[in-house]
Amino acid sequence: MKTTASSEMEMIELLYSLGIPAEAVLVSRHGKLFPETAQISKSGEAEIIFYKHKPPQFRPGEPPSHWKRAAYSPNCAYCKSAPAVYLPYAAQHLCPKHFRRLFEKRVKRTVRSYGMVKKGERAGVALSGGKDSYSLLHALISLREALPFELVAITVDEGIPGYRNRAIEVSKKRCRELGIEQHIYSFREEHGKTIEEIADQGKENPCSYCGVLRRKILNSKARELGLDKIAIGHNLDDVAQTAMLNLIRNEPLRFARFNEPLIENEKLIPRIRPLRDIREKEVAAYAFLHGHNYDSGRCPHAATALRWSVRHELNSLEDQYPGTKSRIASSFNTLQGIVKDSLKEKRLELNECRICGEPCSEEVCMACKMLSDL
Ligand SMILES: [Zn+2]
Ligand SMILES: [Zn+2]
Repeated sequence: MKTTASSEMEMIELLYSLGIPAEAVLVSRHGKLFPETAQISKSGEAEIIFYKHKPPQFRPGEPPSHWKRAAYSPNCAYCKSAPAVYLPYAAQHLCPKHFRRLFEKRVKRTVRSYGMVKKGERAGVALSGGKDSYSLLHALISLREALPFELVAITVDEGIPGYRNRAIEVSKKRCRELGIEQHIYSFREEHGKTIEEIADQGKENPCSYCGVLRRKILNSKARELGLDKIAIGHNLDDVAQTAMLNLIRNEPLRFARFNEPLIENEKLIPRIRPLRDIREKEVAAYAFLHGHNYDSGRCPHAATALRWSVRHELNSLEDQYPGTKSRIASSFNTLQGIVKDSLKEKRLELNECRICGEPCSEEVCMACKMLSDL
């Protein structure tokens, strides 16, 4: 449900009028998640996605119809106990236990249907400490009960003061608690510069540097660690946004590879996205249920204005037509398959970067090009 409140007081009143105890909700505003209303600052859009104690009660005519239907039988759809999460597209309330079960079942289905991980393989999860990778870590741990495989965590420290430090602490603590082997690499040590320093040099789009340089660390370190796969925390929203962005920017090949090489190469460790079929809000709720209540906020350099608009439009379409994001992701997936098949016949091959030896399509890889440019 989407609503606007111009102050904390207004938000509390609004929650009260909806019958939701203010301390019991997780609120997202401008894409950030807040476990408490106390953290809501002035103005802005807020979206309630999670409630701990009592589901919202509506007066007729207020909420969208799919909310109303579920609001009249506000128990967990499976066990009739107190619900914690509401899924609008299914008009279902779920208790924490059944929500977690559904979430893990979906991840398992995604992993199986794409053949993402096989029994006995060694997979690394790219763990930033944010909600997505935190959920991914937990979902993969649960998956190991049915499908035994080795799991380690790789954390990349880009060097963004205040933004990344705390997330890294969250990730370290969680890995210790779960007994997961964690490897941490920094931009400073691997590339000689933090992303902050790159941004300070006046580079127009530090995000593109960040993405390329991070991918290079992940791939080369995954190879060193003998990993078969690298798991990335991209969710359904990320996939749908990327698909739309590539259409808008007229970048069909990028669209087809989704930041992936279209050509296989033994030096490229395959990247998998086990959360690709799950909505961002549910990923956040799953992380929250596993004790993740830290809001990393938005990276100070983050997301271009265009991605931000696409995200906003997709959220509003999803509200009006539940299932929109899934349908976009699935047509994108179909097209990706067609492009990949057509390229297979061409038998393209990759070179090795003249400077660092990483596989790339030109003489020098993108990361080395960027670094020599600094
Ligand atoms: Zn239940
Ligand atoms: Zn290179």
